[in-house]
Amino acid sequence: MRFQYLRDADPEIASMIDDELARQRDSIELIASENFVSPAVLEAVGSPLTNKYAEGLPGKRYYGGCWAVDRVEDLARERAKRLFSAAFANVQPHSGAQANYAVETAFAQPGDTIVGMDLSNGGHLTHGAAANYSGKLFNVVSYGLDPETERIDYDDVAEKVARFKPRIVIAGASAYPRLIDFERFARIAHDGGAILMVDMAHIAGLVAAGVHPSPVPFADVVTSTTHKTLRGTRGGLILWNDEAYTKRLNSAVFPGAQGGPLEHAIAGKAVAFGEALKPEFADYARAVCANATALGRGMSSGGLRLVTGGTDNHLLLVDLTAAENVTGRDAEQALERVGITVNKNTIPGERRSPFVTSGIRVGSAAVTTRGFTEAECERVGELIATTVFALDEGRDEKIEAVSAEVREMLAKHPLYPELD
Ligand code: PLP
Repeated sequence: MRFQYLRDADPEIASMIDDELARQRDSIELIASENFVSPAVLEAVGSPLTNKYAEGLPGKRYYGGCWAVDRVEDLARERAKRLFSAAFANVQPHSGAQANYAVETAFAQPGDTIVGMDLSNGGHLTHGAAANYSGKLFNVVSYGLDPETERIDYDDVAEKVARFKPRIVIAGASAYPRLIDFERFARIAHDGGAILMVDMAHIAGLVAAGVHPSPVPFADVVTSTTHKTLRGTRGGLILWNDEAYTKRLNSAVFPGAQGGPLEHAIAGKAVAFGEALKPEFADYARAVCANATALGRGMSSGGLRLVTGGTDNHLLLVDLTAAENVTGRDAEQALERVGITVNKNTIPGERRSPFVTSGIRVGSAAVTTRGFTEAECERVGELIATTVFALDEGRDEKIEAVSAEVREMLAKHPLYPELD
């Protein structure tokens, strides 16, 4: 592998990076929030832009020598706006959580009410979880899923917004396999006098490609990460259309939430936005959705129940209760042993703790980047079910056979051959 300077200067870290690359290569990556960036993005992130301080915005910095990074950040903003048809963008948030912090503190004061999706129903920590700043700063009213349909209960959202009159309504999720009706969310929020913030972190790549309806025409502010289905470097993004919000949002990021922006990461975002603007990216996003459906088909035919019965996007929530003795944690560990990486996840009506859970979350963004076909994804779904039931029945020989098949599949789809 490359990284020759690192290998000489710090062989310990170099060997840890080798281990992580080997781990990524040797497993079928199904963590729904992960992806593999292009070698071009890797290079941009590892560039000398990491050396530059650039507090402020392009053309209005608190440091000298910013003319080159100004161009990088301007291009990143222009590409983000073009990609999502938004009038304004801020590409500085270091992460999705930072973007959400900035927007929430821009529009609500400590003690104000916000309405967001409950963490155990698929929302994100930053949407009001007690352990997060959002749960500590704000009075949080959470909404969840209809227990019958396992889909967002819009009537419940509307009732809570009308009753509690929040400043902000947050739509968007970390573990929701169905389309979200942003127009309906906007109506609910605006009827209650609130602004609508949509956190499209998970689905941003699908939105960019037109495979999922866009929140940008309906939401007052849209936040996102750049590293999930969008396939960029790790980071955050904020988009909006109303110029009246520009100063408030930009100042909420800097100086409100952050100091100097990470210009090397912003370059990585710009490269990824450029990739997402190409027609091939729409093919990729369509394949991501087709592969998620195929994974679901395989798991269902193997006897596992899919929450909501399937998926409209890149992820599936899988209810493991058909395998009586297998928790989400057990399944995550057993699947890791066979070379399939997933994460345990709570399911609607969860009875176990979030550290144990009765489900797993499975996503197709990374395997699609790696080149897995629909037929292969269906087979991977079957292998997941085989592993879960073999674990339940203590059938180790079946687990061994899955492991061998996984290795064969991986060998057909080399990851980062250019790093050898
Ligand atoms: N928003 C949603 C919906 C997410 O799923 C996540 C991360 O998983 C985030 C925000 C936070 O992103 P980050 O980990 O970059 O802070």
